[in-house]
Amino acid sequence: MRKLFVALLLFITAIGTSQEKYPQDAFRSPVDIPLVLAGTFGELRSNHFHSGIDIKTEQREGLPIYAIADGSVTRVKVSHWGYGKVLYIAHPNGYTSVYGHLQKFAPKIQEFVKKLQYKKKLYEVEDFPEYAEIKVEKGEIIAYGGNTGGSSGPHLHFEIRSSISEKPTNPLLYGFDVRDATNPTLQKIYGFPLSDDAQINQNKNTTAINFTRQKDGTFLADPVYATGTIGLGFIGYDRQDLAANHNGLYSVQQLVNGKVYTDYDL
Ligand SMILES: [Zn+2]
Repeated sequence: MRKLFVALLLFITAIGTSQEKYPQDAFRSPVDIPLVLAGTFGELRSNHFHSGIDIKTEQREGLPIYAIADGSVTRVKVSHWGYGKVLYIAHPNGYTSVYGHLQKFAPKIQEFVKKLQYKKKLYEVEDFPEYAEIKVEKGEIIAYGGNTGGSSGPHLHFEIRSSISEKPTNPLLYGFDVRDATNPTLQKIYGFPLSDDAQINQNKNTTAINFTRQKDGTFLADPVYATGTIGLGFIGYDRQDLAANHNGLYSVQQLVNGKVYTDYDL
């Protein structure tokens, strides 16, 4: 979650704005290997925004998955689609953690699921256990990482949601240690003519804008000569240190003469 600056046109940052409202020491990592991400929060998928992070599991299944804090299993699901085998654990501090694409559950959870499957005579099941029916402790192995559901390689899909609103938040705001000194990368900038009289560099169509990478890591666009109303767009991605994956940008700001003009923060 490092910053990317594009001089002249827009600023892109990949860092959250107000970290202080998210507990920083409440949760341990769901895995006991370094956090290497194959996907980030909010990145665009074919028909949705990604609501968690995808943690690489050393390209294998069976990696132990740990409860990030004390809590209780409040939802468990087995499906051929979506998150495959997935666990939801509600924690007393108001957050629910979600663990998807699991290979299998830990024995006491597996027992619960098996009963359910026999009762319903179905493989695909879903249930919402009462709070405290299946308690877990921080650091307890709750499952093993896998590739179930809509997953194209072994990884853990991990979310942190509000238990009440179920709104997902960026798990990287909770103090997890992800090595990330790598700036986001800018691939393309475009100017879009929006009004009938608009021109960009004497062009009436969508126009690619050239830019160069500066020594300090920022990008500087060539001057743009425009008339009428124009819009600006870009293509870019964020990378963390230990993986080549092109992950999504968490937040973007566009500044005009030093003032924020538009921004988003997923
Ligand atoms: Zn995912």
